[in-house]
Amino acid sequence: ATLTEYVLGEAERFGDAPALVDGVTGETIGYRELARQVAEGAAGLAALGVGEGDVVAVMSHNQPRYAVAVHAVLTAGAAVAPVNPVLTPGEVGGLLTAAKASVLITSAEAAEKAVAAATAAGLRHVIVFGRHPGARSFDDVLASQAPPPRADIDPAAALAILPFSSGTTGKPKGVRLTHRNLVANLAQTRVGWRITNSDVMAAVLPFFHIYGFTIILNSGLLGGATVLTLPRFEPQSYLDALAQHRVTRAYFAPPMVLALAEAPGVERRDLSALRYAFCGAAPLDTGATERAQDRLGCRIRQGYGMTEASPGTHQVFEEEFARTPPGSVGVLSPSTLARLVRPGTDEDVAEGHTGELLVSGPQVMAGYLDDPEATAATITGKWLHTGDLARVDEDGLFWIVDRLKELIKYKGYQVAPAELESVLLGHPSVADVAVIGVAHAEGGEAPKAFVVRDGELDAAELMEWVAARVAPYKKVREVEFVADIPKSPTGKILRRVLKERG
Ligand code: ATP
Ligand code: MG
Repeated sequence: ATLTEYVLGEAERFGDAPALVDGVTGETIGYRELARQVAEGAAGLAALGVGEGDVVAVMSHNQPRYAVAVHAVLTAGAAVAPVNPVLTPGEVGGLLTAAKASVLITSAEAAEKAVAAATAAGLRHVIVFGRHPGARSFDDVLASQAPPPRADIDPAAALAILPFSSGTTGKPKGVRLTHRNLVANLAQTRVGWRITNSDVMAAVLPFFHIYGFTIILNSGLLGGATVLTLPRFEPQSYLDALAQHRVTRAYFAPPMVLALAEAPGVERRDLSALRYAFCGAAPLDTGATERAQDRLGCRIRQGYGMTEASPGTHQVFEEEFARTPPGSVGVLSPSTLARLVRPGTDEDVAEGHTGELLVSGPQVMAGYLDDPEATAATITGKWLHTGDLARVDEDGLFWIVDRLKELIKYKGYQVAPAELESVLLGHPSVADVAVIGVAHAEGGEAPKAFVVRDGELDAAELMEWVAARVAPYKKVREVEFVADIPKSPTGKILRRVLKERG
């Protein structure tokens, strides 16, 4: 099946039940209506010449139309390149050119930028949700009454989406995911997380990132749930949305958990519908997790993945929530294999030891976009090199230590920034933190902490706090107080930005 056939195959059965609700305007699209709009959109796009081999960029914050646009493009036989709507016109132009997009579908808010970037990149059409000069209206595309497209694509080979990785460690890489990759990952995820038509899912993490796209949007539609779209995270309006819509499943990235651990007024809301909360995308602090879950009245458990794996490879199955500690990313997803190797070698580490995580399964990408060298360096044989250090315990539970590239080498010892960040976050006057390695006379490299303060705190006091809790070689040797920590839209610390600052 294609991604759309798999995800919306049972849409008729869910009838007029709400598929998507706009958390801002309240606009609702039912399942039957969604299937109808997708079919109309596909026909309208085909009439504009969109078909197999084309790439259509979709640039919008989360809203119901996002799902209509994406599945219409796929049904027309083309692939989707998701674009973050807050990028600058220059960055958008760069992605459009890299993805070889011929059409851009955009939100009304980003329309001006979209038209400028699309004109510069020589795109055939710009289509906007709403109206904008120089762009075609998505409503007109839906209303074209053109005959249905006759796309006949091979799900095992055809490109479905072309997301860009988060760019945490360097330039974002275009990742080629086939229909089969995404269908496989949805099927795998479904074994552990049984979403049904009585679920309401809060979708605030962006659909232009693979986590929001597969794990929230498409998993929700596949299960017949109601996907509540929220354009951005702000603790108070988010808590209101959880209560008002009786959300049953929440999806977090670490900064959301940190914010909800401290946000005022949680007690005032009725969050009794909330049953499962998930977190992924970056290392999660256990202390903050415990505070947040006590207040929300719901356990928070992690999953792990990456853009290159569509994204999920590890999950905590629902029935294992109570038994799994919050620091673990759970067990391997079905039909997924893993190895832990000594970094830079093909040797497996001894049992119980930490090594680079390699994964294999039907969800692993076809390759990077136009970069055979990077593809060959990342996939060797059937193994995808994640670049992350992990260990596995005797119960098959995996623990992510940190990214290999981010390890700080102090006098030959290796220090994981995530461990120090967790210790620092335990200090009552630390609101947020990021640790990087900086040049150090004796150690070669040593940990430096960028800290957002909450109240009185000086550097010496904070360094003592850490020194009392970790081995001497892990000590933080420099502290800088800052107003905020630079983060990606899915809440990853942008350490390369801090490194440039020094
Ligand atoms: P880039 O590859 O462009 O540098 P990125 O790796 O951050 O950016 P993504 O594909 O969005 O891009 O993120 C995948 C990475 O996110 C993983 O390799 C891992 O480092 C991190 N990650 C995901 N889930 C977790 C988790 N639960 N705990 C720790 N790290 C996680
Ligand atoms: Mg990566």
